[in-house]
Amino acid sequence: MNYKKIILKKDKETSIERFHPWIFSGAIKYGVDDLLEGEIVEIYSCRNEFLGTGFYSSGGSISVRIFSFEKEDINQDFWNRKIQSAYEYRKNIGIIGNPKTNAFRLCHAEGDGIPGLVIDMYAGNAVIQSYVLGIDNVKNEIVLALKETFGNDLKSVYYKSDKVLKDSVNGYLYQNGDIENIVLENGNKFYIDWEKGQKTGFFIDQRENRNILTKYCKDKKVLNTFCYTGGFSVYATNNGAKEVHSVDASQKAIDLTDKNIELNNATDIHKSFCSDTFDFFKNSTEEYDIIILDPPAFAKHLSARHSAIMGYKRLNATAMKKIKKGGILFTFSCSQVVDKYTFVNTITSSAIETGRKVRIMEHLNQPADHPVNIFHPQGEYLKGLVLYVD
Ligand code: SAH
Repeated sequence: MNYKKIILKKDKETSIERFHPWIFSGAIKYGVDDLLEGEIVEIYSCRNEFLGTGFYSSGGSISVRIFSFEKEDINQDFWNRKIQSAYEYRKNIGIIGNPKTNAFRLCHAEGDGIPGLVIDMYAGNAVIQSYVLGIDNVKNEIVLALKETFGNDLKSVYYKSDKVLKDSVNGYLYQNGDIENIVLENGNKFYIDWEKGQKTGFFIDQRENRNILTKYCKDKKVLNTFCYTGGFSVYATNNGAKEVHSVDASQKAIDLTDKNIELNNATDIHKSFCSDTFDFFKNSTEEYDIIILDPPAFAKHLSARHSAIMGYKRLNATAMKKIKKGGILFTFSCSQVVDKYTFVNTITSSAIETGRKVRIMEHLNQPADHPVNIFHPQGEYLKGLVLYVD
């Protein structure tokens, strides 16, 4: 295949030679005229050495996202190998064929060498989320690659691309029999609404952190704020918690939480509240042994980092003031621009403000099915702490 060429300025090839997949617009010498949005392009150094192949984007500072560092044809066989390799990785980390878990991330964008592509698997149903137009252009190849990899175990492919194309159509690209929306995660049951839910329908990235909660929640009164589908709540009710309260500002999220609590037969020890978390803390007189704070990303861009940090500080100080002596606080940030050191410093200032004695019990991360390319540290986003508050 003959792809159009982009030539980089002098010395701009170093990061690409180290497998960093992004080309910023400022690194380009020439070659972007006449390129179509989402088109596949080849990247060359100023000495005309081949560097990689990727998708072109005109908006934003990232002009090309590289998905191959070898000179090769980008055909069906290429996409089959990419998806097969993501599958092999999940097999090696024990998430495929696991009798207790059938919800996992199959493809984590840059972490799996396919920038702009997320694929989550829910009991054999693949949910594709595309973040760049280039992925939209190859969605049919991705579906064929999924069929090739999973065979008859693939039950459906649902495609979501609303981030990329304003007028895009979300919908099924493949169906193989009846669709089952109930999955297992570490033995806990969840109903997943990938058609209407946020992102692909579930925050799979908290799977291992939810499991850590089970070590601490026996006989405890637990508050799960920003609960969405009630992930942490279900783990708590299924693992001996005395009472569990869930809070979310969205009624849709509360309905999903209630549905999941019902699915796990735990309605007698669970209550949900549709409320802003800060209002809930202000108005509630309840005392909790364990509080979970898993807010949405307070900062989506660097420009919002300072106000995000102030938000985390206030949220954590509020929870620390509220929690019982000897209480355990699970606190998270999924803002990529707030790194783990900044997050720990922020929580430290919450502890200083409240005057409570706080010990770090555990540092938490995103799980292995959300891998970070070591040359692309921007892929690391989820961080958390388990704190003991005296
Ligand atoms: N902890 C969840 C994921 C949280 S996603 C899990 O394990 O799956 C973030 C959630 O925060 C969303 O459901 C959103 O509706 C909710 N939310 C956003 N702002 C909020 C606020 N101010 N108070 C309460 N909930 C809020």
